[in-house]
Amino acid sequence: MHLYEEQKIQIYNTLSGKKEVFKPIQDGYVGMYVCGPTVYSNVHLGNVRTFMSFDMVFRYLKHLGYKVRYVRNITDAGHLENDADVGEDKITKKARLEQIEPMEVVQRYTVDFHNILKTLNFLPPSIEPTATGHIIEQIELIKMIIDNGFAYEVNGSVYFDVHKFNENHDYGILSKRNLEDLIHNTRALDGQSDKKNPQDFALWKRAEPQHIMRWPSPWSDGFPGWHLECTAMSTKYLGDNFDIHGGGMDLKFPHHECEIAQSEAAKKQAPVNYWMHANMLHLNGQRMSKSTGNVVNPNELLSGENTFFSKAFAPSVIRFFNAQSSYRSVLDLTDDGLLASEKGFFRLMDAINVLDELKAGDSSTFNVSEWRQKCYDAMNDDFNSPILIAYLFEAAKQINQIKDGNASLVSKDLDLLKKTMNDFTFDVLGLVNVSKADTGTDKLAGAVELLIELRQQARANKDFALSDKIRDDLAAKGIQLNDGKDGTTFTTN
Ligand code: AMP
Ligand code: ZN
Repeated sequence: MHLYEEQKIQIYNTLSGKKEVFKPIQDGYVGMYVCGPTVYSNVHLGNVRTFMSFDMVFRYLKHLGYKVRYVRNITDAGHLENDADVGEDKITKKARLEQIEPMEVVQRYTVDFHNILKTLNFLPPSIEPTATGHIIEQIELIKMIIDNGFAYEVNGSVYFDVHKFNENHDYGILSKRNLEDLIHNTRALDGQSDKKNPQDFALWKRAEPQHIMRWPSPWSDGFPGWHLECTAMSTKYLGDNFDIHGGGMDLKFPHHECEIAQSEAAKKQAPVNYWMHANMLHLNGQRMSKSTGNVVNPNELLSGENTFFSKAFAPSVIRFFNAQSSYRSVLDLTDDGLLASEKGFFRLMDAINVLDELKAGDSSTFNVSEWRQKCYDAMNDDFNSPILIAYLFEAAKQINQIKDGNASLVSKDLDLLKKTMNDFTFDVLGLVNVSKADTGTDKLAGAVELLIELRQQARANKDFALSDKIRDDLAAKGIQLNDGKDGTTFTTN
């Protein structure tokens, strides 16, 4: 018996605007696709929040016993500066500005992405395909869409004919827009564009001579449109109709709307049964976004080297902070919020760390089975992690009471409590067990402060050989001392 047979999940489906009972296409198996990063710069905490929410979804589905094939792509071509098919390719632009190969850009930021996700204890997806690795599949899809009459070629570029498609399909079905409103709200074409209508979107773009990322195709040497890669890669690895597709809210339109249109036009069926959208991370009341520069890099938060926050935060504190709000709510990143999460996280860890010391009693004063089911109910209710955490805290209180002799559990209940606490805290929420004493950051800070003080004494005694040695040896270990007018601070790399 698998857990998923007794625990029924409800997922909020953007398509229906309702929570629906989750029923996978194939019993016991789940196919999930999540749009990955465009690797032209370092990922920011907003990107990380979306991926972390889906990491939790992946973890919970696996915990329930589903065999999950989780595909999260890397966008390494085709994403133009402006989502409406204009501007330069983001990766090409970065390569031009830095005078390096586009694939060097891709490599650098893919490595950065992987490093950050590893630090934050993400599970790797089952498949991580790249857009440039699937050019042939994308060309084949375009051919199908043209053959079915939903795309046209102009000057070596191919565009999706949104108006034609909308005659007998619903363009706007996901984002709840309709073509009339879209027409009303878009500027008329200025005569520069090859498109028949401004709502049409590129499936293939002919490359200008200076455009480095280019591939041969039946229409021109060019590159695929951004929306196409996700249709090509999701259906290749998960089938023409699969269970879950996720991404940030901002991708609902046009990106995901276009994915639906492409699939229906090529394969004559809706690609996805459950569309999930994660809400945005805000900073200073505004959406965190690369384009406005309102961003915090995860490393800045982990190292404490930033101007926004009072201190460094451990990776699990960042995960805990994220899980304390529903993936569908906006989350505001603040120092106070992080400090409160840190307190809560260590309170939970302290309770978990005494679990093994607890001795079973003759009777149970706490209904563990009922509590366990409440934890599942929380996650079954569209992955409601803040409610789950409230129940974990309820158990932490019980654990402390048992420790103090004010409550008791019989052996069977104690074992169930331990297992459930560990399952949810570590497997599902992906937290790592640390106690405040061994996070390292506080200890390290204490030790370096001491060395700074000794160096100051050495300087006061004019023992410059010693003061330089302290500075240089610390630098060799990756700890830089910075002398300022208000004293000496340190940074680590
Ligand atoms: P990009 O690299 O721009 O393609 O974005 C990668 C993912 O991060 C997408 O799923 C976006 O929806 C998501 N994303 C971008 N900004 C934020 C934000 N401020 N909060 C949460 N997710 C975001
Ligand atoms: Zn995508």
